[in-house]
Amino acid sequence: MTRRPNAVIGVSVLIACAILGIAAWVLTEMRHDALRRAQEAAINVALLVERDTARNLELYDLSLQAVIEGLEHPGVRDLPPDLRRMVLFDRSATAKDLGSLLVLDEDGNIVIDSKVDPPRRVNLSDRDYFRVHRDAANVGLYVSHPFEPRLTTGTSIAMSRRLSHPDGSFAGVVVGTMRLNYFHNLFAGMNLGEGSSMALMLADGTMLMRRPYDPKIVGRSLMGTANYTRFTQAPSGEFFGTAAIDGVERWYAFRHIGNFPLILDVAVASRGIYAEWHRRAWIIWSLVGAVDVIILTLAVLFAQQLRRRIAMETELRSLARTDALTGLCNRRAFDEMAELEWRRAQRSGLPLSLLMIDIDHFKGFNDLYGHSAGDDALAAVARCIGENIRRPGDTAARYGGEEFAVLLPDTGDAGAVRVAETMRAAVQELDRRHVASPYHIVTVSIGVACTSERRFATLRAFVNAADAALYEAKGGGRNRVVCEPAGAVSDFIAPPTVPTANTRSAR
Ligand code: GH3
Ligand code: MG
Ligand code: MG
Repeated sequence: MTRRPNAVIGVSVLIACAILGIAAWVLTEMRHDALRRAQEAAINVALLVERDTARNLELYDLSLQAVIEGLEHPGVRDLPPDLRRMVLFDRSATAKDLGSLLVLDEDGNIVIDSKVDPPRRVNLSDRDYFRVHRDAANVGLYVSHPFEPRLTTGTSIAMSRRLSHPDGSFAGVVVGTMRLNYFHNLFAGMNLGEGSSMALMLADGTMLMRRPYDPKIVGRSLMGTANYTRFTQAPSGEFFGTAAIDGVERWYAFRHIGNFPLILDVAVASRGIYAEWHRRAWIIWSLVGAVDVIILTLAVLFAQQLRRRIAMETELRSLARTDALTGLCNRRAFDEMAELEWRRAQRSGLPLSLLMIDIDHFKGFNDLYGHSAGDDALAAVARCIGENIRRPGDTAARYGGEEFAVLLPDTGDAGAVRVAETMRAAVQELDRRHVASPYHIVTVSIGVACTSERRFATLRAFVNAADAALYEAKGGGRNRVVCEPAGAVSDFIAPPTVPTANTRSAR
């Protein structure tokens, strides 16, 4: 990976994505947890309030039943009023927020009052609890709509039971009142967080108490609202819904209170449920975002450095393999390529050719025109060589001094001689003045060796063969191509002004 800048960026993007993914997963879990915790809290509060309310109402109902039983007993009925009060009303009826326990006759007049004796002279025949029991015998326990009591203060509801004569006819009502303040205090003691609400309603949807408290809501009917409809469908349940009263979306836990015609709901606001989660999510996203930005920035910087280093290394490697004067491969690069191609040719059995090229009478050129002109001529000859190798696998190198070598893989002797001849001709075409040469221009001699012609035991033997061919070309008069082992001489084009019988010895 330390050699691949794109891989560095790719891996860092993967890491950044993985961090994002993990953060998203953790936050999703936290969100579920927040909802679960809020739900558990709401369910627990609903259960608690339901138990408390149900227990108190049951005790109150037991007091009503005790009064009825007491009144049915002839001995009790005939007791003096103050004693009768003590027998009929136990102390549970005196608890805070519980009003009077009253016995009404069939006309709605108070006949026995738990608080005072003689009873207050009030007629309650217009109350719904009186009318309900008067009109039906089998109501059992009735919980009234909220009303403003005439005897005390504070909006109240009444729990009532019917009194019947032995023949079953209506004899009056036993009624106990309960201030709604009791529920107000009960709700106030529960803490469910921002936006939460609690409500107690009659089974017909009449609101008795709600938190947050608003006196205008007491007595209002929720009949027909979506939430109320759901409350009536099961003894208890949970759901997401929007309150008809304030339009806030909440998660509701509702319960019917014991066997009483009362429904309690506890609801936590969606925004309340997730408020803390939102705060934490912000912090976590910010941190993760910052970490990801840092990772990606570092990766990009690192990749840039890596690219620069790789480019430099490539440049250096190429420089280390290039001959500065001619731009061809240098001797070291040639040796490596020769070794490589040699082994490849051994393995594949395909022919490999080698040209050894030497500038003719170059010492004389230097002496005559100077080293600088010699270098120019060297570079020009190198161009003639470099421009005439065509295949990607071909390698042209400066072998040393004014000698060059060309490796031609997959090339037989005929092809190699053709290439060599092209090079020789190209140098001749340069037409560079060289009066010390019998040809009067710069020329080269080329020795060719090819593995298709002879089996060479080693690379060195192969190079020596090309060298020997070059030697032969020199001896044969220079400016020519000789191929080992046949000593084949290519077309020799002698400049017309110069005699071909050159007397200078080869090398
Ligand atoms: P021959 O035809 O037999 O090859 O004769 P020659 O003069 O070329 O003989 P030889 O190969 O012995 O001479 C090589 C000469 O090439 C020696 C040196 O003056 C010259 N030479 C070698 N390397 C360089 C170089 O880098 N720059 C210059 N200007 N001349 C070089
Ligand atoms: Mg030479
Ligand atoms: Mg030489």
